[in-house]
Amino acid sequence: MSASKPLTIAIDGYSSTGKSTLAKTLAQQLNYAYIDTGAMYRAVALFALQNNFFPNEVLDQNALTKALHQIDVKFKKHEKYPQPVVYLNGICVEEEIRQMHVSARVSEVAAVKAVREKLVHLQQEMGKAGGVVMDGRDIGTVVFPNAELKIFMTANPEVRAIRRWEELRGKGEKVTLTEVRENLLHRDHLDTTRDESPLTQAPGALVLDNSNLTRDLQLEMALDWVRAVQKIER
Ligand code: C5P
Repeated sequence: MSASKPLTIAIDGYSSTGKSTLAKTLAQQLNYAYIDTGAMYRAVALFALQNNFFPNEVLDQNALTKALHQIDVKFKKHEKYPQPVVYLNGICVEEEIRQMHVSARVSEVAAVKAVREKLVHLQQEMGKAGGVVMDGRDIGTVVFPNAELKIFMTANPEVRAIRRWEELRGKGEKVTLTEVRENLLHRDHLDTTRDESPLTQAPGALVLDNSNLTRDLQLEMALDWVRAVQKIER
């Protein structure tokens, strides 16, 4: 399949719908690059936490905006992981950015206009040659509105909460299902209602509801869509 014209594949959707699982396997199958844009927002949120930009539990947007030039976010290989992972100012932060204290703050950070401008620019540079699967919240609407294939992922909130809870517990994090459910719903709310590039289904996006699909089945569906697009683009 990879001999055809390299496509840009945009995957957007709600929190914990399995976007990154699908995006990663799709990228492997197609021999494309995979870019997890959520990891980039999480790295900026970690920077904001490390630098005490949440006085009284509220993000100081001005302080973060002024400090943006000090933030370097890159994907690089790390011996522990098969795919490139995110580095914040030269340090691999792959594990820490997935923890609940970062999840609890990331959507506030992602709502800041200057943060989005910086990261969208980086994402457009990383994906400009095509042959890329990028997942996030605004890929099909803002980052690559001309992507040849756009997928919008959704799933039942309870199914999502249980999946994420099991994943976090598997990593040894002590969280309750209620905390995980509340975090997902809170992020969905902030992500869909913010002024800057809110999460919304892009025009032309194909909806994938994986509440009742196995990973293999959803991959097959997505590969069918890729094949269909490749026929048109040939
Ligand atoms: O994809 P993930 O759940 O890791 O993303 C973490 C958060 O980053 C989201 O809840 C959202 O607030 C933000 N995000 C975003 N735009 C993207 C990717 C992620 O606003 N393209």
